[in-house]
Amino acid sequence: MKRNSWDSACLQLREAAHYVSVPSSLIEILEHHDRTVEVSVPFETGGQVRILRGYRVQHNNIRGPYKGGIRYHPRVDMDEVRTLAFWMTMKCALIDVPFGGGKGGIEVDPKQLSKKEIEQITREFTRKITPFIGPSSDVPAPDVNTNAEIMGFIVDEYRKERLRRGGGMELKEHIAATVTGKPISKGGSEGRMEATGLGGVYALEALLSKEGKSLDGCTVAVQGFGNVGQWVARFLEEAGASVVALSDSSAGIHEPTGIDIQSAMRWKKRNGTLSGFGGRAVAPADVLTLPVDIVVPAALEGALTKQNARMVRARYVLEMANGPTTKEADAVLRKKGILVVPDILANAGGVFVSYCEWYQNMHDEVWKKEKVFTELKSAMEKATFEVYGMSHKKHISFRVAAYVVSLRHLAEKYKE
Ligand code: NAP
Repeated sequence: MKRNSWDSACLQLREAAHYVSVPSSLIEILEHHDRTVEVSVPFETGGQVRILRGYRVQHNNIRGPYKGGIRYHPRVDMDEVRTLAFWMTMKCALIDVPFGGGKGGIEVDPKQLSKKEIEQITREFTRKITPFIGPSSDVPAPDVNTNAEIMGFIVDEYRKERLRRGGGMELKEHIAATVTGKPISKGGSEGRMEATGLGGVYALEALLSKEGKSLDGCTVAVQGFGNVGQWVARFLEEAGASVVALSDSSAGIHEPTGIDIQSAMRWKKRNGTLSGFGGRAVAPADVLTLPVDIVVPAALEGALTKQNARMVRARYVLEMANGPTTKEADAVLRKKGILVVPDILANAGGVFVSYCEWYQNMHDEVWKKEKVFTELKSAMEKATFEVYGMSHKKHISFRVAAYVVSLRHLAEKYKE
């Protein structure tokens, strides 16, 4: 992500503010973060101590506790985390869950660390941010290079640290609700793992239904084959689309007759890479410009730039990653008539099911997967139809419309 990603996010906000009547003080508040926390994360490796930088940014909590993932990546910095936290505020408002926006991360390449070292840095980071997180204040979740196991370490260390700080006093909070995306055995929700990908498919299907179309027979290319990329590919295939291209950070594959996604998932799990799976080898970024109906960026920010956006041949871009399209690329896609389902809508299924998990933990309930998916479908359809309606009413892009709907939801709470 570019150094000035935060400035671009503020531009997005101001552009949307033109189309909605909300207090100007709300826009000003959203242009600032409530709190930024930067910590050092020392850990031992090869007999030496290394110090990493860790961040937690709390953007806004007008609608409820701060909510957002924790990312482990060498490109993590304060600018990136601030922007991601802002997007969480907008996303939570759009999908209408009672959360605000937060985000965190550690500047590290986890691929260079052992499992033990990842656990060590997670526990150290958790101890440092314990005073700032909790079920009613700030609720982290998985993001790039973090997963259920890591969320399990966080909840475990948070509990220990709270007990230590309270001198062993019994904890009255619903501790499991401190973090979402946990393993089921530690209070995680059924369906959370698949939620972001499935939510994206529900949003796209809802949008296509408005145009009298369906996913049946559509061809798809997916960039990024981690949690989000794998599940979105799997559910697109289930919905009748043909996924013809995939990529991860080290390889891209193109198979015009369609890729068997479950086999690709098994291959990726076994080998850690898509390389060697089959199909024609392409550069990872080239999957975005193949001749398909739907392009799905599901990796990192800034994947679609002014340059490669010109070469996109799809009719739809489903933004499963956060911020995959630069502002310049967005303008190019718009000019070409390509419909972009914006990130704060397309990938909102993750935070929606995080809300389901948090709710279950807070109320000592356990929901079946069917109930989670039914709730998810209805939330994604409601948000998509709201965005679609706003876009047509005001003659604005889906992205601007999504921001307008979010601002409206935020303004309702702000006025209260
Ligand atoms: P993840 O599990 O860590 O997967 C990221 C994937 O992106 C990996 O397959 C990685 O490749 C791939 N990748 C990285 N750089 C790439 C490149 N240059 N070209 C192609 N692929 C590349 O992370 P995730 O949870 O799926 O998150 C993906 C995106 O979705 C992020 O933008 C995240 O913020 C967003 N998101 C996630 C959630 C969630 O619930 N997890 C919710 C909302 C939004 P390797 O496998 O080779 O490392």
